[in-house]
Amino acid sequence: MAKKEFKAESKRLLEMMINSIYTQREIFLRELISNASDAIDKIYYKALADEGLVFNKEDYYIKVAADKASRTLTISDTGIGMTQEELENNLGIIANSGSFAFKKDNEAKDGHNIIGQFGVGFYSAFMVAEDVTVVSKALGSDQAFKWESQGADGYTIEPAEKETVGTEITLKIKANTEEDNYDEFLEEYRLKSIIKKYSDFIRFPIKMEITSS
Ligand code: ADP
Ligand code: MG
Repeated sequence: MAKKEFKAESKRLLEMMINSIYTQREIFLRELISNASDAIDKIYYKALADEGLVFNKEDYYIKVAADKASRTLTISDTGIGMTQEELENNLGIIANSGSFAFKKDNEAKDGHNIIGQFGVGFYSAFMVAEDVTVVSKALGSDQAFKWESQGADGYTIEPAEKETVGTEITLKIKANTEEDNYDEFLEEYRLKSIIKKYSDFIRFPIKMEITSS
């Protein structure tokens, strides 16, 4: 299947993001958890308004699962999911999302903290991941789709298997280099402390699962 190119603007922004500011790369988790929470909010409010949709409180949660052996970190949610078109439109064009919506009046004076202060969105995953896979099944759809990208040079979308409605985002965590160690993003205590720091206010449970099989 042919790889689709990001729009030029997106490409520049993505490169800037990946290559520039590394000091607060931990915030990728805040971004992915906040997207998961938004997606659950959407299905939750839909269910409230639609008698045909029955959900229990236990149905709404976010799961953060790390597997040290495969160096993967998976953030999944039981939210509204994305159709093929939504994967394409929401993740394929950076400028389309709220990502990089740095407000002029809020512009950080000291650039090093800009990432920490603003919502930078889904693409912040590429600060720690060499490959990002999103498998999603939208509410009301029987077919799931998989979006995959290794960064600035594009993404693929294809049909996939997923039983339940929602989204599962798998980050293949980068290999360590002499300057950078990424192992921390597979460690339970570290993940817990990032979640505590940035996602304490999330109103859905965040479950954690660490394996090293
Ligand atoms: P923002 O959250 O500011 O809109 P993001 O870059 O974080 O920007 O996300 C882009 C869009 O991708 C979201 O607006 C949403 O439509 C979609 N999206 C991202 N993650 C999920 C998810 N887990 N479930 C459903 N939709 C998602
Ligand atoms: Mg977001």
